[in-house]
Amino acid sequence: MYLILLGAPGAGKGTVAKMLLKQHPAAHISTGDILRGNVAAGTKLGLQAKKFMDEGGLVPDSLILDMMKGRLAEADAQQGFILDGFPRTIPQAEGLGKILVELGIELTGVISIDVPEQVILDRILSRRTCSNPKCQAIYNVKFMPPKVEGVCDKCGGKLIVRDDETEEVVRHRLKVYEDNTAPLIQYYEAKGQLHRFPGESSDAIVDGVNAMLKK
Ligand code: ADP
Ligand code: ZN
Repeated sequence: MYLILLGAPGAGKGTVAKMLLKQHPAAHISTGDILRGNVAAGTKLGLQAKKFMDEGGLVPDSLILDMMKGRLAEADAQQGFILDGFPRTIPQAEGLGKILVELGIELTGVISIDVPEQVILDRILSRRTCSNPKCQAIYNVKFMPPKVEGVCDKCGGKLIVRDDETEEVVRHRLKVYEDNTAPLIQYYEAKGQLHRFPGESSDAIVDGVNAMLKK
């Protein structure tokens, strides 16, 4: 299974990825998680990426493509992968196309998760993330609160509002998504690789992907 998950920030890509991974062997490759890991570790890439991330803008395509070229070549990705948060621009999609040709991998499909903007805003603004870079567990103060307020159930880390999850930054990220990433829907539709799902039910998306894999 070689999948791309497309969807606005907060559409539920991470949740769907985790559900699919319980049923299929694949590497979960989230560019956001890798970048945050680099920021926390203070790597050169992290230092370069941080200012774009804090503003809710996109990290330049060249940095992302270099990073993903390495990541997709790793052993665990050969048996399958779920790309979460990549590609995010047409040049990234074209770069990914080339990387996959080099690796001899054919995409299984591209899943687009469609969620109305107001629902997304509500979701993200009530989101809290574990500050432990190795954990990064996500909670929602309305729908999925931790057992103890402000503390991660899994590792005891402190839960925080990410720098890029304030209302102003979230509105900006949604616009960046509309301008840069939404065009990928047409891009993959034209290639006959797109499968669209409404975002209300993660279970329905997982069922849809399973049906697609059987074909
Ligand atoms: P979300 O999916 O909630 O928008 P992510 O965790 O995927 O957030 O990404 C957080 C930030 O990392 C983005 O706002 C952006 O700055 C940067 N980022 C992640 N993936 C990419 C990418 N493929 N291209 C450019 N920037 C990226
Ligand atoms: Zn944690």
